[in-house]
Amino acid sequence: MRTNQELVRELIRQGVLSTPRIIDAFRAVDRRFFVSKGLKRSAYKNEPLPIGEGQTISQPLTVAIMVALLAPKEGERVLEIGFGSGYQTAILARLVGDTGHVYALERIESLYEFGKKNLDRFGIFNVTLILADGSQGYQEYALYNGIIVDAAATAIEDSWKAQLTLGGRLVVPVGKTRDDQTLTKLTKVGEEKFKIEERPGFRFVPLIRGPTRI
Ligand code: SAH
Repeated sequence: MRTNQELVRELIRQGVLSTPRIIDAFRAVDRRFFVSKGLKRSAYKNEPLPIGEGQTISQPLTVAIMVALLAPKEGERVLEIGFGSGYQTAILARLVGDTGHVYALERIESLYEFGKKNLDRFGIFNVTLILADGSQGYQEYALYNGIIVDAAATAIEDSWKAQLTLGGRLVVPVGKTRDDQTLTKLTKVGEEKFKIEERPGFRFVPLIRGPTRI
């Protein structure tokens, strides 16, 4: 794929992009802004790419599936854990619009700076970027209509569930091994009641607990 539009057409062809609003957001967010300098040529490949610190910008296919599962609506508040390049952050920000807001966490400082620079250049403003560990979510701005975790968890945290509004959705890859996770969507249908939806067969970098590495 040589252009962002070609990449979007490919995602539609694969059946992972089908909602018009989400297609528009993927069209509007040019992935080139979010890949590392030396990899611009590969920006429109449907592949993950290294962004430094052993981390990757997720495969567009995966981002499309995760965003479709989260289904963010205009005006909603979304928490993203592990924003890395900021690519998915920009797509989420488009979807919640000016009346909504994205709170995005990243625990590695150099990636926090990288993602921030990318989002500034691209021109996204309804986003608050925070250098912090999101393994317990982020209480300060809770509740959220959506929480999306971009790294593999070994279990679903109670704190994520507690930080959701009624009707809120959590999308997180969960797995006991490094190379196989199940993308899990929980919808909060009651104070202690969740509807669960699962899609197996994903591979994410691990969610790392603990203090920020400088
Ligand atoms: N959506 C991003 C994915 C980056 S990879 C993109 O497409 O660019 C996953 C990111 O999660 C990494 O940047 C990693 O540093 C971050 N991460 C891992 N554990 C974390 C934690 N506990 N809190 C916040 N960020 C975390």
